[in-house]
Amino acid sequence: MSNSPRALGLASCCLMSLALVPAWAASPKAAKAAAAPASAASSSAEEPLDVLKQRLTDRLSSKEEAAKLTNRGGRNEAGGRQAPAAKPKPPPHWGYAGDLGPGHWAELGPEYKQCAVGTRQSPIDIRDGIKVAMEPVKFDYKPGSYSVQDNGHTIQVGVAAGQTIEVMGKRYELQQLHFHRPAEERINGRSFEMSAHLVHKDAQGKLAVVAVLFDRGADDAPPQPAVQSIWASIPLEKHESLAGPAPLDLGQLLPADRGYYTYMGSLTTPPCSEGVLWMVMRQPVLLTAGQLDVFARLYPMNARPVQAGSGRLIKESQ
Ligand SMILES: [Zn+2]
Repeated sequence: MSNSPRALGLASCCLMSLALVPAWAASPKAAKAAAAPASAASSSAEEPLDVLKQRLTDRLSSKEEAAKLTNRGGRNEAGGRQAPAAKPKPPPHWGYAGDLGPGHWAELGPEYKQCAVGTRQSPIDIRDGIKVAMEPVKFDYKPGSYSVQDNGHTIQVGVAAGQTIEVMGKRYELQQLHFHRPAEERINGRSFEMSAHLVHKDAQGKLAVVAVLFDRGADDAPPQPAVQSIWASIPLEKHESLAGPAPLDLGQLLPADRGYYTYMGSLTTPPCSEGVLWMVMRQPVLLTAGQLDVFARLYPMNARPVQAGSGRLIKESQ
């Protein structure tokens, strides 16, 4: 499993599925729901074995549930907790325009409340940071297998296990990356053509996202190699994933200058959970007009507007 791309189904929806049950965001209600299957099991201690077996079969009735259990010993993208026995209601649909747009996310369901009431939300316009000596982010990316999916909100790339970063003494493993147009974050009011979000998670389930900004390069510049490989493997159908034909080196997606801004924020998609460490690379990476056009055809606008800074500290590397 270590060399195969992660199952996209477990980390599909932009940042969304990663944040369904982060430990720091678990409500008492959610904790109660998670505890329910355990109490049901203990109350059935006196039932005959075949009844218990039947119950287990019922629980495994859908392929999806069975797959979740099969993955138990491996990587559970949702932070290691199992889904409650009762079929969870799928999260409400959301989008970037009209009644499903960012201004309405919190109205779509109580689980999206944070999108409206949170005070440490992302993205932000990065300005007035303090310039300090910061350790560079230590990227330990190596060429690996990958798969690409159009999940209905963005183009998302599933990656092989073992791609890590180290920042402020903590190690985070890359879970997936995906794209936004225009870039969600701004720097001193400036916007950018696109950005990539590389979503990492540490052993405790805390998220760290590296944002790479994209600008348009010169007309005669060569295509950006990592983006070229990813675009080549976009599947024809939404929600299907297509494996890339050769290993992908994500180190090629990073800017030469590793200077960055860092602040505490949130997921930029519902449920907008907070406690996310952001690192925004200062130097934009250049894409060709053709590469930008490919994404624009699929997603002309999939960016949440900038959110209030609310006095948060922003640090900038020297
Ligand atoms: Zn994103």
